[in-house]
Amino acid sequence: MSAAEVREERPVRHVVTVGVAIAVLATGCGGLSPSPAPTAARTTVPTAVPGDGGVVSLTFDDGLARQEQMAQELTERGLTGTFYVHSTRTKASGYLDQPKLARLAQAGHEIGGHTRTHARLPELHPDEQRREVCADRSGLEAMGFTPRSFAYPFHAVSAAAESVVRECGYNSGRGRAGAAAERIKPRDPYNLNTPLAVGASTTPAEIQQYVIAAEQRKTWAILVFHDYCDDCGPLGVKPAVFTGFLDWLKGREIPVRTVGDVIGGDVRPVPQIKAPSIVLNASLENYFGKEGIPDCWQLDGRSKTATFGRVAGAHTGRWAGRIQVTGGDPKQLRLAIKQDDGDCAPRAGALSVWYTSTAPVRFTVSRRTGDGVWTPWADGPVFPATTSWRQATWKPPAARAAGVSFGLVLTAPGQATFDDFALR
Ligand SMILES: [Zn+2]
Repeated sequence: MSAAEVREERPVRHVVTVGVAIAVLATGCGGLSPSPAPTAARTTVPTAVPGDGGVVSLTFDDGLARQEQMAQELTERGLTGTFYVHSTRTKASGYLDQPKLARLAQAGHEIGGHTRTHARLPELHPDEQRREVCADRSGLEAMGFTPRSFAYPFHAVSAAAESVVRECGYNSGRGRAGAAAERIKPRDPYNLNTPLAVGASTTPAEIQQYVIAAEQRKTWAILVFHDYCDDCGPLGVKPAVFTGFLDWLKGREIPVRTVGDVIGGDVRPVPQIKAPSIVLNASLENYFGKEGIPDCWQLDGRSKTATFGRVAGAHTGRWAGRIQVTGGDPKQLRLAIKQDDGDCAPRAGALSVWYTSTAPVRFTVSRRTGDGVWTPWADGPVFPATTSWRQATWKPPAARAAGVSFGLVLTAPGQATFDDFALR
């Protein structure tokens, strides 16, 4: 594996990965509200929709770096927007970093959530959805924001996803695209309707028509924006078009409010989530940080001669994870489920994994007691080297544990590639 393979993936916007223009335009993100530092006594931000002629929200998805200029354009005109961002991408190039998001919030813009990995929630197990939504919201709170509003990546909504968004403490979820405008008192705040995203091919007249329709029908136009440039793909609105629209909008009487302010309601706490019943990020598809650690996993004992990286040629999906030891004690390096208080570490069970290896491998398992202390628990049986994918399963002896962390090690120098873990 090369060094490049262990680095964090270059930020790739879903714009690039979705081939069909209309599907791209149906892809969405959302906004939020200004956030003072979290306090124990959370204050209520009242619903504020003056007049009775409809309302407009300007929402911006994915936390793209060029949205700083769009926010500036809003601020210069006394307008505020809702920016739906990922807590995990504030250190990635091409995205708004934490200080910039803080400046947006200080200027009155809303910061909302959009999942950790831009996940298509309905395709995920509910425990994985909670990781995507609740842990993302926790991450935003840890940065000093108080997110009240959420937007479903790809506008992909299901009843289960709506439940998770509500459970994670959001007051709304921006959902279906291409629908008629939303009611000011939405029938379902966890599936807010929006027109199609504003993109490179949207004409100024079309954008204005969304607003005019809201004025005439006394509805809520939630406009969705992504990038901002003269030529950066189908979701990039031209600066001249955007500026022209804002100048036109400012001359209308219809109020412009953040999504959080139209919905109203308290900033609710992020709930404590019970330990998952599955292995999260089980196919090792999601990686964070410069060191390329898979989300919900940890690596113990890395060194120059004991390395980890993601590799193509996976059992399923895009990536598998590979440990490689070229010197020293081969058992020094361990890939293990993250030892935490239950965000990632599951309840006990048998673990299975698909692997290939040039040397025998074995499981290890650690357990967490009720007081939150992790202790090494047991070593599993040795599984032989194999050049073709093989599934290994091990059920550790029964023992009381609040959480478990399965690990895998090599028993001799070599390399082993893992994919598709499962708890059963
Ligand atoms: Zn998005």
